[in-house]
Amino acid sequence: MKIISTISEMQNASQEARMAGLRIAVVPTMGCLHEGHISLIEKAKQLANFVIVTIFVNPTQFGENEDFSTYPRTFDRDCQICKDLTVDVIFAPQDNEMYHSDASTWVEEIQLSENLCGKTRKGHFRGVTTVVAKLFNATMPHKAIFGQKDAQQALIIKRMIRDLNFPVEMIIAPTIRENDGLAMSSRNKYLSEKERKTAPIINQLLIEIEEKLLNEQAISVESLKEYFTSSITAVGGKVDYIEIVDANNLKNITDKQLDDITNTEILIATAVYMNTTRLIDNQLILHNDVS
Ligand code: AMP
Repeated sequence: MKIISTISEMQNASQEARMAGLRIAVVPTMGCLHEGHISLIEKAKQLANFVIVTIFVNPTQFGENEDFSTYPRTFDRDCQICKDLTVDVIFAPQDNEMYHSDASTWVEEIQLSENLCGKTRKGHFRGVTTVVAKLFNATMPHKAIFGQKDAQQALIIKRMIRDLNFPVEMIIAPTIRENDGLAMSSRNKYLSEKERKTAPIINQLLIEIEEKLLNEQAISVESLKEYFTSSITAVGGKVDYIEIVDANNLKNITDKQLDDITNTEILIATAVYMNTTRLIDNQLILHNDVS
């Protein structure tokens, strides 16, 4: 396994792989790898024969008061995990390799980015789309694997690929969870023992809301949101947002739409603070294929 830190060396390696007829899959990550990332890498291995994992804690997607400086960095352990999975290349650039000090170009999606995390994390998705575009240009992949855990991010990147004609096929892989349902996340490391015990309630409530949506008549969006918020508050958490949206455009679902949801793919998405740790999760209702 090669560890590459410059864009030019990465492009050369991908160019060579392409010349050799290999199919390249990239798995972009911020490191601190866990089973969720591993599932994406395994998917990449199934779909391609040259697998690149990028490890880059991207400064431009963190807000001023967010956790960029404290974000967990476990590079040596991440390298061992990738090696064990027979990854071909880790692309791990430094900040100044990715961003010139006078960089002044952004890639920005302006519709899907408005709702959900976009409301409280201003500029976050602009950082994400910019870095993913740059990572695509550096790694030149045929396929890119992202997780459903970050549902809004996945949808925005899919839109960016379409709108900017990136020759990249995007694959979205399911959310991997702990046994008690908590979505795996590098940020789970921040949780105290007590918060870790409480955190699975997020997933439990999302499933409850899904069941209510599917089985109960004359239900209102507001009552479901209130139920979620009061239940989270009762265990000491704080809801950043809980929204029920159309899974294809992230627009809020109306009560009228709830009367007949058989033709609407619905996403129930949330961000919850456990003390200072912000956790996101979502439940996707695809009819005939509920996941
Ligand atoms: P991150 O390192 O958190 O930026 O995540 C890198 C990629 O891993 C993104 O595509 C995430 O959606 C995906 N990912 C993170 N956690 C999970 C999870 N629990 N299950 C599946 N994919 C995940």
